[in-house]
Amino acid sequence: MALLVPLSTNARTGVNYTPGASRFSVETNDDAQQVKLRIYKDGLGGKPVKTINMRRAKGHDGLWHAEVKGDLKGKFYTFDVKYGGKFMGECPGIWATAVGVNGKRGAIIDMASTAPAGWSADSRPSIAAKDLIIYEMHHRDFSIDPSSGIEHKGKFLALTEPHAINHLKELGVNAVHILPSFDYASVDETRMGEPQYNWGYDPVNYNVPEGGYSTDPYKPEVRILEFKQMVQALHKAGIKVILDVVYNHTWNIDGSNFQRTRPDYFYRKNADGSYSNGSGCGNETASERKAMREFMVESVKYWVEEYHIDGFRFDLMGVHDIETMNAIRAAVPADIFIYGEGWSAGSCAYSGDLAMKANISKMPGIAAFSDEMRDALRGPWDSNSKASFLGGVKGNEESIKFGIVGAIQHPGVDYSKVNYSKAPYATEPTQMIAYVSCHDDMCLVDRLKASVKDITTDELIRLDLLAQTVVMTSQGVPFLLSGEEMLRDKKGVHNSFESPDSINRLDWGNLESYPQVMEYYKGLIAMRKAHPAFHMGSADMVRRNLDFLPTENCLVAYHINGRGVPGETWGDIYVAFNAHKRARNIEVPDGTYTIVCRNIKCDQQGITTVTTRNGKVTIPAQSALILHN
Ligand code: CA
Repeated sequence: MALLVPLSTNARTGVNYTPGASRFSVETNDDAQQVKLRIYKDGLGGKPVKTINMRRAKGHDGLWHAEVKGDLKGKFYTFDVKYGGKFMGECPGIWATAVGVNGKRGAIIDMASTAPAGWSADSRPSIAAKDLIIYEMHHRDFSIDPSSGIEHKGKFLALTEPHAINHLKELGVNAVHILPSFDYASVDETRMGEPQYNWGYDPVNYNVPEGGYSTDPYKPEVRILEFKQMVQALHKAGIKVILDVVYNHTWNIDGSNFQRTRPDYFYRKNADGSYSNGSGCGNETASERKAMREFMVESVKYWVEEYHIDGFRFDLMGVHDIETMNAIRAAVPADIFIYGEGWSAGSCAYSGDLAMKANISKMPGIAAFSDEMRDALRGPWDSNSKASFLGGVKGNEESIKFGIVGAIQHPGVDYSKVNYSKAPYATEPTQMIAYVSCHDDMCLVDRLKASVKDITTDELIRLDLLAQTVVMTSQGVPFLLSGEEMLRDKKGVHNSFESPDSINRLDWGNLESYPQVMEYYKGLIAMRKAHPAFHMGSADMVRRNLDFLPTENCLVAYHINGRGVPGETWGDIYVAFNAHKRARNIEVPDGTYTIVCRNIKCDQQGITTVTTRNGKVTIPAQSALILHN
């Protein structure tokens, strides 16, 4: 069990509450003329009960303080900074750790009172990066449908319920990656009675849980307590909690806490003075700037310390500079798993090295999603209807092999034929996230329906299972979109960020309609967990023990020498993926093998045995085959 790093508060402004007095601080640009602190009774509306002119700190033009005597617990506050004779508008500052409804005002609470019973005994489950199996989920998708049987629908508390936890445990995943769960803008927390949906990639307060996922967004302590209850329940079940973080842009510029406290400091600009838009969301933060870098480092540390978060997924990590990512890596314990999108959504106004996939080797201990393997399986990101390997399109084999080895250098991969990266980008296989679907783009079912002509339900299921077998036998870190185990669909919507529940919700009834899917996923995940050969965790070990069989069109097969992998009980392991609509053969040395995966079954205990005489083993159409001796 890892110890938590001690809390450092140097870079953290905001409020420091004690029953005798509350001390406020805010950082501004040096040319700020005045800062007003306002204290309110409520999180929204009403007149200030107190307005205080803050004092500039001695020897630090950009730091302002105020101390208010008396017990302010339960009150709210805002800062308002004046530049060039004009006030920027009220905001809670960049370091609010509790806020009122919709995050407009900071809240003065006693953080010590937000710990659930037993919280001090909570600790992060000890799971190495190579052993992770990540389940990416949205709070509302997961539990909102009546079929979920979950009481706290769309709330943090859903993940404290045994029914939800048992499903995750049964599936076998050991980390949940929760979509943005910090305070974001696009759900109006004053209208929680109405169905509202958003993924939440529009940050407002980075260091506060989202109110819309709490049972009472008006009470600042409630979201904090419930978030911790969620973490605690998952940790008790041996499941890590990974937070999706979006430091690369804010909801808007003018209204943002960044802009209202330090105008134009936190955002990159183009040479012509316009705001750069590498995020595709209208702005892009400047991680290379001292205070932005410190903010990101401290914010990540804060989530680890205060909420016991186990890992972070960086949205558009390619917008950030590599020094910042390395600083974050160095600031948190080694078991905190860090990964991100190794790309941006537009060009960035930064001339140094960005945290792109191609630079992953310069960021040890940080992983990136492999779009190579994803698109080689399901088809390119820029067209929903184009098929790849799963649709029987040849030419994707080397990209799949690239994903199998975990994006490392391997003599069996012809990098000139890989779809995007023409060279390995990972130093270690745990620096690659293996996946075929995530919240972005179509989910797997929709993609298969859109890209494979006249697909039948039987074919759909076969190809779905084939795809996840590639993911779960990759030496990278496997990652599943929640609901794939329920054969989820989104009615063909490929960007469902604000689609209604009817599109995004998981239909738990599918567990009964398509039990073979969940059964296979369970078997596949259990097999991976039990066999270190599928997650060696070391590039050298992968190069020594994994070799590819001759590649054919729409057929990828490889061998692992299990004897070379510590803890592995299987000897020679053969894995083959056949995307043809007919059976194909691979050649293996003569002998007797146990088949553990074939057609739509995966069971590490063995399905049947086969004795080969002419060295040939048959892989049924559109499926995976795994055997060992
Ligand atoms: Ca919010």
